[in-house]
Amino acid sequence: MQLLTLLGAAWCLAVAAILLLHRRALIALWREPVMRHPVLIVESDDWGAGPLEQAAALDAIADCLARHHDSQGRSPVMTVALILALPEANAASRLRDLDSPEFATILAALHAGIARGMLAPQLHGMTHFWPPALARAALAQPQVAAWLAAPDLTEQLPSPLQSRWIDASQLPSWPLDEALVHAAVAEEVAAYTHLLGEPPQVVVPPTFVWTATVESAWAAAGMRVLVTPGRRFTGRDGTGRPAGIDKTMRNGESAVGEAIYLVRDDYFEPLLGHTPEHALAALARKTTLGRPCLLETHRNNFLAAAGGDPDQSLAALDRLYRRALTTYPNLRFLSCAELGRALKDNDPAWVEQDRRRRFTIWLRRVAGLPRFGKAARLIGLLPLLNLFDRPRP
Ligand SMILES: [Zn+2]
Repeated sequence: MQLLTLLGAAWCLAVAAILLLHRRALIALWREPVMRHPVLIVESDDWGAGPLEQAAALDAIADCLARHHDSQGRSPVMTVALILALPEANAASRLRDLDSPEFATILAALHAGIARGMLAPQLHGMTHFWPPALARAALAQPQVAAWLAAPDLTEQLPSPLQSRWIDASQLPSWPLDEALVHAAVAEEVAAYTHLLGEPPQVVVPPTFVWTATVESAWAAAGMRVLVTPGRRFTGRDGTGRPAGIDKTMRNGESAVGEAIYLVRDDYFEPLLGHTPEHALAALARKTTLGRPCLLETHRNNFLAAAGGDPDQSLAALDRLYRRALTTYPNLRFLSCAELGRALKDNDPAWVEQDRRRRFTIWLRRVAGLPRFGKAARLIGLLPLLNLFDRPRP
């Protein structure tokens, strides 16, 4: 009897120690909203100033989306993260805006897709680089100078230079002056507002490299949603890779000001061999954990000029929506701005309020925490908690 009491006390101590050790992650996972329905958003970056082929590609994407409907009769929305300008030849800081006559067909296609409810614009950046850094790099790197002589596809720049919010003219990168960041954000928000008729609500940091300073500037400009990969890279290391993680985040967590974070860490890039089945597996993983599935893609999949195969990518997109709707009859479509609002307001139409159901999802989430899950299984804590699992009938 005494031995049993001792064993019981030891088990309780072990449980307490494990819970205490992982309390922050456990609490964060409990606070993270649980979606009531499977949610799928395909997020497409880099549209805007660039090849004119984008106009037809945007029309074709909108036509593809219009063929599908969720149980509420709503078509999928593709979010398009916009680049607002390209530089003039050999002048990194002299910009040709998206509303200059040469880009008129692209802007018209964007507006048409938005009016149809198929495209949801988001801010990516005035440019997909930091102009002074590009100018400096062009002096030392012939391939950058060649790009700047006839600027078109920013995808062709060396990856570190595509990070807008650092100076990657030399590696490792340097942070930017705070005042310059604030001025640049104010300028690009004003340009976006002029082009789209309303200020941006959602921003996608180019190459997912940004800093607390940039975030403060976005907050001051009224941004509501920051799309992230779940961690903030603040620079590029000596080899050019994104580095300097200073923060991690989960869906619905507060950023600076009124903004919240969304996490986008799944991909649908047909150019890289991602199939609809690959994307459906991501949707299944996210749905099991009560999370929205945000799939990252890029315009280059839909542009022959950028090495893509538009027909194949459109067919893959079509198959993805068809199969997703067949697999999940309760699948729901919305934009990131709408999702951000639903999470911020804890909207019961979208966010699970039932505590037992939330507990079930929380159990699945904590089981996936690498060290906690292993330890909790080892001492029998997870199997015990799973007895309280209450799947939705
Ligand atoms: Zn981009």
